[in-house]
Amino acid sequence: MFKPPGVKDKQFAVLGLGRTGLATCHALKRGGATVLPWDEAEHSRESARRQNIELVDITRERIWEENRISRLIVSPGIPHLYPEPHPIIRMALNRGIPVDNDIGLFFHFHEHFKQSKPEGEIPKIVAVTGTNGKSTTAALINHVLQSHGYKSALAGNIGIAVLGLENLEELTHIILEVSSYQSEAASRLNPDVAIFLNLDEDHLDRHEGMGGYFAAKRRLFDGDNLELAIIGVDEPEGEFLGNNIVSRGQGTRLAIISNDKSKKIPHYGMIGSNKTLTEFADGKVIGTYSMGNNPGLLGNHNLQNAAAAYFACCHLNVPVEKVIDYFNRFDGLPHRSQVVAKKNGVIYINDSKATNVKSTTRALESHQRIHWIAGGLAKEGGIKTLGKSLNNVKHAYFFGHSAKNFALELRQVPHSVFPNLPEAIGAASTNARAGDTVLLAPAAASFDQYRDFEERGFHFISEVNKIT
Ligand code: ADP
Repeated sequence: MFKPPGVKDKQFAVLGLGRTGLATCHALKRGGATVLPWDEAEHSRESARRQNIELVDITRERIWEENRISRLIVSPGIPHLYPEPHPIIRMALNRGIPVDNDIGLFFHFHEHFKQSKPEGEIPKIVAVTGTNGKSTTAALINHVLQSHGYKSALAGNIGIAVLGLENLEELTHIILEVSSYQSEAASRLNPDVAIFLNLDEDHLDRHEGMGGYFAAKRRLFDGDNLELAIIGVDEPEGEFLGNNIVSRGQGTRLAIISNDKSKKIPHYGMIGSNKTLTEFADGKVIGTYSMGNNPGLLGNHNLQNAAAAYFACCHLNVPVEKVIDYFNRFDGLPHRSQVVAKKNGVIYINDSKATNVKSTTRALESHQRIHWIAGGLAKEGGIKTLGKSLNNVKHAYFFGHSAKNFALELRQVPHSVFPNLPEAIGAASTNARAGDTVLLAPAAASFDQYRDFEERGFHFISEVNKIT
């Protein structure tokens, strides 16, 4: 397995021993570093012990005094600045020790590769960020590259820690999904291709507001390797970022993407709308690609993802017609606009990952005559801003912790309230008629009743399977 360069005989404290933290510990040890791993949760410490990782209680001041810790590596879930620094991060800050994460470490290792390996053996890095669509876009790019015969792998926020990639040194491409928590803390970010899909309110407490959230995401574009910047311009932040890239003149190419068919594309870019991708250069149409009824990429929002993937894959030398062909063979990801059943003319769709207002809006815009199932742990700001997309809702079925608040916020929408998901599904399927859609798009996190959005999505699928 991959042995990280440049860490031999150094000491790293690692805080947070989930998937990412454990992979970081193993990788650093393989590179000859000393690791001081810790997690506040006993169950995480237990799983570390099972993997023969020796724990060191870095909550004790003495440990910091007695060792020469060169860096503290933190997991994405641990706040390093806002709402306030975690006490262990505070200990590192007090001693002048840099705080970093696995993504930052990875880019340091990648830099070493560049200095020690021939050009053709260094994997190209594509980094994807945005409020919504990161996983779908990253998975779509990986699907195209693998279909074309490249040795490509997915990593990052999508669930596989980058330092845990088994065959990292043999890969030709690494597609990194980067959340704002990850990009904010990484000491180094230097991808070859960077994608910014879109921006909407989410995780604002961790970034001290929208400005901090955007600042975290735009860091992906600061590296000096950047060959291609792909930027969604449907919000002012994306327009601003795109225009800045044009002006910085470091040889970085820019491709802009939009879902808005009236958008002007002054340079190079693509609009995804009405099942079609339209490519522009210097304001003129240079190509149109029909995306038909691809069930893996339902809805306009998925055309935004496809447009981003298109530019990334073409840049990485996959011929245009192949890219489109591979798109049509993409199955989509589970729990995102996933068609799970069709019965008596009614379509059942699992979009359990629609946890914020924007992704829910996109789900509601993508269908008609919707029996909409929503609820869970509401995010800050509620759901009042769902706006015109609600016109597609025939009836709403609210469940879980936020059910009553949702009902109060959306009095104008015909609705009913249920204690749990199965009862909401039962009522929706009883009311649905041929041509209707039963859609789970919760507009809320799942943690009131489920471990995560996946458990909630699987529950939806199993309940739907019982009645269809
Ligand atoms: P992320 O990894 O950014 O959370 P996912 O691909 O997992 O993105 O999708 C999360 C949710 O957002 C799903 O409900 C999905 O249907 C929706 N979605 C996917 N792409 C977009 C997009 N480009 N814009 C808005 N919503 C999207």
